Amino acid sequence: MADPKIRLNQMVTKLREQDYRITPQRFAVLKILAGSKDHPGVEQIYEQVRKDFPTTSLATVYKTLTLMKEIGEVLEIGFAEGSNRYDGNKPYPHPHLICVKCKEIIDPDLATLSDMTQELEQDTGFRILNHRLDFFGICPRCQEKG
Ligand SMILES: [Zn+2]
Ligand SMILES: [Zn+2]
Repeated sequence: MADPKIRLNQMVTKLREQDYRITPQRFAVLKILAGSKDHPGVEQIYEQVRKDFPTTSLATVYKTLTLMKEIGEVLEIGFAEGSNRYDGNKPYPHPHLICVKCKEIIDPDLATLSDMTQELEQDTGFRILNHRLDFFGICPRCQEKG
């Protein structure tokens, strides 16, 4: 995981460069995104922001997430049932390991992925722009619980 302070700085800089205002609520959302490695959902972010800014609305959190997504500073991990999760640490495509029981999402270290992209481009002539790679399973903690 990147240093949360550096990451927060990068996000704020990018917003400033594009002339977006950094409201205290917006800043609080960014701080949570930069400091979480567990891919929080909107509700989790909302609950955390409300500890410091009780008047924050869910819409504000959504809008901030959408904005950050648009400027490429947050990666959205979409799920069919709508409970999307967000990665503000690594805003670029990367594989995820997802526990189907507790919904934990972690970032595995896969050195082979860039090789895979290159291989695909060579084999197919595609210029790869993006990818989604999710591995679903049961995490060690849930396995222990049986
Ligand atoms: Zn689990
Ligand atoms: Zn991730």
